[in-house]
Amino acid sequence: MTHRWNNFHTHTFRCKHAEKDAADYARRAAALGMNRLGMSDHAYSPGEVNHPTHMDLDVIADYVRACREADGICGVRVLCGAECDYAPEDLSFFREYYLGEMGMDYLVGSVHGLKNHPEVLNPFSTQPFGTEQLLLYAQLYVGIIESGLFTFGAHPDLFGRPLDTAENHMGWTPEAASCAREIIEAAQAHNMPLEINTSGYARTRERGLAAPIYPRREFWEMAAEADIRVLINTDAHSLACLDADIEPAFALVRELGLKRVELDDAGKIVEVEE
Ligand SMILES: [Zn+2]
Ligand SMILES: [Zn+2]
Repeated sequence: MTHRWNNFHTHTFRCKHAEKDAADYARRAAALGMNRLGMSDHAYSPGEVNHPTHMDLDVIADYVRACREADGICGVRVLCGAECDYAPEDLSFFREYYLGEMGMDYLVGSVHGLKNHPEVLNPFSTQPFGTEQLLLYAQLYVGIIESGLFTFGAHPDLFGRPLDTAENHMGWTPEAASCAREIIEAAQAHNMPLEINTSGYARTRERGLAAPIYPRREFWEMAAEADIRVLINTDAHSLACLDADIEPAFALVRELGLKRVELDDAGKIVEVEE
């Protein structure tokens, strides 16, 4: 099978809401014709105790060991990374512990909410985001980009998820567009790739909506105009989802003329020849 695409956003059982381990994903990746696989389990953030969807601090070393042992299975290069919930006060920990002490290959930046204050910002909510929340989301996401710590930003358009509850226009208000613009301009200024996260297609089907809540078309149209480079990742939480819904994402990339990138054997960004 000729290689076409690799996934760099993959979770394991250690985050408590995904299944399997790095070796299982490596075997599945090989069966799908992939030659690289990026593990990016949900990272522990300083101060957390038994976080329901993050790895605990005491399993991190085992996670890294499992990724390293999986490297080379069926010829697949396995990279070890972590998906970090952005908070400015945690950047030095992420840098020193994950990249330093643990020797991880790359970090992924995400905004899943406001640390310790899910009631203020929760992109998984079914309540529409107001202007304040959009401003806060954009501010946090720009922080990811400006930190220079993360190899790429995950699902930058996740803020579209609560927006879909608004009537008629799927919530794409002028405020949503300016949130997108802030993120995209920062990514452009820092030449940082952003992720088209295909897990949103399944979330869209679950809600019975016609247009994807993410990847959010309006966002990626703006990204294309700014020549933002993109990764297509599935955000796999199970073996069955390792390549889930990549076709509509490829169609979006082709249609909008987006430039796709992946990570190389060292975890650095490389452009993909389609
Ligand atoms: Zn995420
Ligand atoms: Zn994820």
